[in-house]
Amino acid sequence: MNPCNLNGLGVTREDSWAVGHFNIHNQEFIRSVVRAAEQERSPAILAVGMMSIKYMGLAPLISSCQLIAKETDVPVAVHLDHARDLDIVRQALDLGINSVMFDGSSFGYEENVEKTTEVVRMAHDCGATAEGEIGIVPHGTDTVSEDDMTDPARAVEFAERTGVDYLAVSLGSVHGMKTAGTSLNQDLLKSLHEQINVPLVLHGASGVVDDHLKAAVENGIRKINVNTGLKVVLKDFLSSRLIDEADADLLEDLDAGMDAVAEAVAGKMRLFGSSNKA
Ligand SMILES: [Zn+2]
Repeated sequence: MNPCNLNGLGVTREDSWAVGHFNIHNQEFIRSVVRAAEQERSPAILAVGMMSIKYMGLAPLISSCQLIAKETDVPVAVHLDHARDLDIVRQALDLGINSVMFDGSSFGYEENVEKTTEVVRMAHDCGATAEGEIGIVPHGTDTVSEDDMTDPARAVEFAERTGVDYLAVSLGSVHGMKTAGTSLNQDLLKSLHEQINVPLVLHGASGVVDDHLKAAVENGIRKINVNTGLKVVLKDFLSSRLIDEADADLLEDLDAGMDAVAEAVAGKMRLFGSSNKA
């Protein structure tokens, strides 16, 4: 079916499950996520991030997602992850992307409000959904300072002023972690979920322990971003496969690699409660 925006995936603020956002980097990752979504009968988000755009190009990535999504019967959204300027948002919307995330966390508060509001307007004009971020989910550290975590009063105001459909919040997770050892501030999450009337998003889930991911879903997270963990799965799988099955055809290796990533994605879908929600 044609890919849809985040509203079309069926999860709402009032539900008690979360939809998985899986960063994809090439056709193999796209097919892995769709394979898992079909197996689990789960909706899924194919997320296009800046590193992957640099690697594959914006148009080839978005059109690969759209073509593969059309072949499946589970709801799939194509989403731009961590846009930091309006040009890339415009280009992605012109290519028919279904959803965009604007990361204004490096700007001052007022500039973040102003730019995010503009992104929401651009997205809604195209029938797309928009995600904003308030608070900072850092890269390349082990911990998140209290100051970087989302302030509830600011977040309420930010959601109201910008009109975002989804809001990413900072609860203690960190981007780019290769192993899971982080816990989240669940009390902060409960308070944010109570006060904010849009679904909340967790970034940096690869570093968060499963128990805390499960609790986060119970406490109000409705979209969970997974990136680094899936790269680790493929890299680990291929590094042993290429030695163990040295005579195999490369395409067989890649296909087996897609199965390994699909298995990891399916595990996340079960953890997030999105299985059988398609
Ligand atoms: Zn992120």
